[in-house]
Amino acid sequence: MSNWISVKEARQGSSAGKSVEIRGWVRTRRDSKGGFSFIEVNDGSSMGNLQIVAPGELANYADEIQKLTTGCSVVITGELQESPAKGQDTELHADAVRVLGWADPETYPLQKKRHSFEKLREWAHLRTRTNTLGAVMRVRDQISQSIHQFFHENGFFYTHTPIITASDCEGAGEMFRVTSLDLEMLAQKGGPVKYEYDFFDKPTFLTVSGQLEAETYATSLGRVYTFGPTFRAENSNTSRHLAEFWMVEPEAAFFDLADDMKLAEDFLKQIFTDCLNKCGEDMAFFDKMIEKGKLDQIKAVIEKPFQHMTYTDAITVLEKASKKFDYPIAWGTDLQAEHERYLTEEHVGGPLILTDYPSSIKPFYMRVSDDGKTVAAMDVLVPGVGEIIGGSQREERLDVLQRRMAEADLNEEDYWWYIDLRKYGTVPHAGFGLGLERAVQYVTGMSNIRDVIPFPRTPGNADF
Ligand code: ATP
Ligand code: MN
Repeated sequence: MSNWISVKEARQGSSAGKSVEIRGWVRTRRDSKGGFSFIEVNDGSSMGNLQIVAPGELANYADEIQKLTTGCSVVITGELQESPAKGQDTELHADAVRVLGWADPETYPLQKKRHSFEKLREWAHLRTRTNTLGAVMRVRDQISQSIHQFFHENGFFYTHTPIITASDCEGAGEMFRVTSLDLEMLAQKGGPVKYEYDFFDKPTFLTVSGQLEAETYATSLGRVYTFGPTFRAENSNTSRHLAEFWMVEPEAAFFDLADDMKLAEDFLKQIFTDCLNKCGEDMAFFDKMIEKGKLDQIKAVIEKPFQHMTYTDAITVLEKASKKFDYPIAWGTDLQAEHERYLTEEHVGGPLILTDYPSSIKPFYMRVSDDGKTVAAMDVLVPGVGEIIGGSQREERLDVLQRRMAEADLNEEDYWWYIDLRKYGTVPHAGFGLGLERAVQYVTGMSNIRDVIPFPRTPGNADF
């Protein structure tokens, strides 16, 4: 029977004295003058490597061990001992080192030298073997687990809304078309597209949001959330937009905007707390190597209540700001990233919840306020990223919803099922959307969203 354990477990002081087997990839090898070698092995289970001491007496020492290079895969057995070296509790004294796979140093791209994150994107299939990308993906896992746990513990049911949809969630973003038509054949023939020959008998798209469908479940199951891939064909090459990203969208019946904001704040704080508690080593790495002061910043955010400000007040702040913005600002215009970041980074210096946006810049489903000009919307902005959450109380009054749909030139027939929710037992309800990648960006301090998702899809890029 094998006594295989992870590097993470092996590195703990309590493992000293055990005979174990380790399976992983060589990070570095150093030969000592004393006739033995130090091999650093990592298996992805944690940031830290396990130091292997391989004695010169091993049968394959000269033939194989001394030829090990970065990226080789190995299986090592031996005894864990307390380590005299600084920064590690244990080291493994090997009695056998078996090489599973070699990695030719002439061609293996991840040599000891540092590569830029841009360069690493070209090797997205290998880049999680580096410290930074490995840590990012472990934190991404933790955030995903925390999301499910938070909602599960708060009585929200996990529901699966469709990926292929015929409704467009009113301009949440440009949509990708889904078709089984032979586009090349169509182009040759010319003429109009006949949707009756297409798979669904009508135009269909990849979803930009599961919200409208989630509302149907909130008005039956009470509290629900969706968490899945979301697609936007926005041709914007920014450090915070992807064409394919993961969004979590809670939706709750009998919630008003204040309930919604409290939910968002509790939710974010739980995620941040879990990252600090469960990804300590990775978070310490980000604090040291990616964004200095990140740990203190997150701790402070957890302790203090989020600040709130209305859109109208935010416009006044921006108009008075001495900073020059690229985009002009006036009441009724949508805020750009530069405005959001000024407000959260320079004006508040922490998370900020902006509320009560003009109805003219927000979708039809947001609840119209008594002033008739604004809607019960809220965005959560955080330093370094800008908008991380967008949410609102939904319009539950049938007549107001119908008026807003008409103003937005939407066809009621396309939304008959959505309108039904207001005809039969309508209730106040609210929800929000959090982009998973923006949350990972904020927690890790990674500046480009392409480096917090395994295989980023952006304009012109669908490799791997
Ligand atoms: P932005 O103004 O930043 O483009 P948005 O207002 O269009 O975002 P929403 O429709 O409110 O975004 O979507 C809810 C959340 O989904 C956003 O707060 C953000 O966290 C995330 N999100 C939206 N678009 C993208 C994208 N293209 N890539 C990654 N995350 C996104
Ligand atoms: Mn938004």
